Amino acid sequence: MQTSIIGYPRVGTLRELKFATEKFFKQEISETQLQETGREIRRRQWQLQKASGLDFIPSNDFSFYDLMLDTAVLFNCIPKEYKKAGFTALDTYFAMARGYQGEKGDVKALAMKKWFNTNYHYIVPEVEDDTEISLTGTKPFTEYQEAAALGIQTKPVLIGPFTFLKLLRYKGRKNAAAIAPSLGAAYAAAVQKLQSLGATWIQLDEPYLVHDITGDDLQLLKNVYAPIFAAKSTGKLLLQTYFGDIRDCYKDLLQLPFDGIGVDFIEGKETQHTVFSCAFPKDKVLFAGLLNGKNIWRNHYPKTLEILQKLQAAGIPVVLNTSCSLLHVPYTLQHETKLDDSYKAHFAFAEEKLTELAELKSLSALSDPTKEPAYIANAALFTNRHDCVNEAVRQRLSTIRDSDFTRQPAFAERAACQKKAFRLPLFPTTTIGSFPQTADVKAARTARRKGEWTEREYIDFNRKKIADCLRLQEELGLDVLVHGEFERNDMVEYFGEHLKGFLFTEKAWVQSYGTRCVKPPIIWGDVSRRQAITVPWSTYAQSLTEHPLKGMLTGPVTILNWSFPREDISLKESTYQIALAIRDEVLDLEKNGIRIIQIDEAALREKLPLRKSDWFREYLDWAIPAFRLVHSGVRPETQIHTHMCYSEFTDIIHAIDQMDADVITFEASRSDLQILDSLLENKFQTAVGPGVYDIHSPRVPSVEEIKTAVHKMLAKIPAEKLWINPDCGLKTRGLAETSASLKNMVQAAREIRREQ
Ligand code: GLN
Ligand code: ZN
Repeated sequence: MQTSIIGYPRVGTLRELKFATEKFFKQEISETQLQETGREIRRRQWQLQKASGLDFIPSNDFSFYDLMLDTAVLFNCIPKEYKKAGFTALDTYFAMARGYQGEKGDVKALAMKKWFNTNYHYIVPEVEDDTEISLTGTKPFTEYQEAAALGIQTKPVLIGPFTFLKLLRYKGRKNAAAIAPSLGAAYAAAVQKLQSLGATWIQLDEPYLVHDITGDDLQLLKNVYAPIFAAKSTGKLLLQTYFGDIRDCYKDLLQLPFDGIGVDFIEGKETQHTVFSCAFPKDKVLFAGLLNGKNIWRNHYPKTLEILQKLQAAGIPVVLNTSCSLLHVPYTLQHETKLDDSYKAHFAFAEEKLTELAELKSLSALSDPTKEPAYIANAALFTNRHDCVNEAVRQRLSTIRDSDFTRQPAFAERAACQKKAFRLPLFPTTTIGSFPQTADVKAARTARRKGEWTEREYIDFNRKKIADCLRLQEELGLDVLVHGEFERNDMVEYFGEHLKGFLFTEKAWVQSYGTRCVKPPIIWGDVSRRQAITVPWSTYAQSLTEHPLKGMLTGPVTILNWSFPREDISLKESTYQIALAIRDEVLDLEKNGIRIIQIDEAALREKLPLRKSDWFREYLDWAIPAFRLVHSGVRPETQIHTHMCYSEFTDIIHAIDQMDADVITFEASRSDLQILDSLLENKFQTAVGPGVYDIHSPRVPSVEEIKTAVHKMLAKIPAEKLWINPDCGLKTRGLAETSASLKNMVQAAREIRREQ
């Protein structure tokens, strides 16, 4: 049996690529130096994979920003406005990713969206009616040859044409069907080129197939693949799916001339059933995704070997694979010096997963693997997990009642109380919470962590930052203020660190988008709150201003979704535990005079099952109640805000309203405010702040631009329900652009008020 992975992380084991790219943005290093960093990262990873004994080593899984963007550039899907500026190829690429404002022009970034059910964000490519799709790029070929020159045969990876068509944004009249022939031909040219260079297997990623697939979808897939099949000669084609099962189309796909089919046994609940329900063609290979590419727990060898045996018994030729790209897990446990071995033994990051693949490969070759030390040690891990049950937490959870999920009184009555209590102007202005995490903020945290600063020094520093931040907000003229979140490295890690039941890593970074990485905590055991977490910061901030100060918390679903979750209890149970801990914090803030509390559910949409039929049963039926459990205990005049980072919730709009917050702010600026219609149609009750400008880009929006956005909003949202705010937290931005943008935002709000 051979082994494979779908893709590897690419930011570098110590985020080398991130740092080099950011230097390149600041013009501190040249393009040649950046390219060299990329080459070095690729070389190291290929050699590591080769040394581990991996049979199918991927190439073209590297990216300077994002694979969807790479694919767009490869096939010339570059909107005119980015071509006009006359940038170099790399600058055009980065302008599409992040926007550009400077001597050569002023272009916005392309939209960014979450990649299926992950916290990775991809760039949404656009086609215009006159876009000439053809193979104009060279990246997969260069990378294939680069590996070949090191003596390493790789399996080039491309995002498949069907998924690409499904995720494209169509700016003109042409739709997917109209684009399919030229896109298919361009892919065919790429496949031909890879074959001519010597590629023996080519992987086409089609995660879109794990959605509910219709007959039309299947037809589109067949159409776009027709030229590719015609171009196939010496190379084999692997159709790779992940993030779920392909129950609707598996049989149809088996009829097509692919040489390998990759399926996900981890997230694909029906995968086993589907695979065993029909005969497997003799001329194909099944790439069985049995190692979790998304979570960090050790693989359970007895279970995996059992499935492998069943597949072999059914006469199915198998390559052992990961369930998805390892992009979603950190690089290596080797950099974790603080975590005790008794914990570490339970984890496998990307590098350790390579070891697992190798061990499973040799175990699977034995007639009785159960006597092997590797097998015995692995099996033992699953019977001995220390330190994870907290009886008090379980007891508390067992006593919650239905009424604990409902806030009293109902929305309208609360809204009236709050109107009187706050006397805010029409179109209140606010921000989402964080202010720029400038170098001094990060340095202070590092100094504290290393023990170079005392707790007192650290607190004083943060208090000064809070005071400056409040002064700035008052000067800018914002209505509802925030303390700035300077004490937080990350909105989830910060809470995790203050709750019992979490474990932390030092260097376990995972790419979120572009150069942004996150370090998700690990939920190890039952969760509870040790003591007040944010109360001292928020009350200090409130003491400095007459304006209402918004307390800032992260909600339970987001904490769960941005952590590595447990696999020994249900997600629902884990989330309710977190909800109770955050509820304690909400009530504490209220008791201490904080009258507006924002509970961020940035990642609520993220884990929505990809198949509609699973949405409620498997997710929303507990995710929404978890949020309600957090805030149901507050007084009518306390205003509860929430924030979601993702504008695409048109389809779950009722569920969002059911969260029963008083105000919701969300990201809308990068998606053309498409959500407004559905807010109107669905009589959305919660007051809304659809972000008026994009904080993911350093460009400063003009007053006019913001006013245009607000006017669009006012066409669909009643004036008394509209808030004005940026579309997300400001922590990744610089101070200068932040002040300039907020100044324009407040000015726009003032001018619009005058128009009323
Ligand atoms: N309150 C958080 C912040 O402003 C929200 C961040 C987010 O939505 N990702 O940083
Ligand atoms: Zn956000």
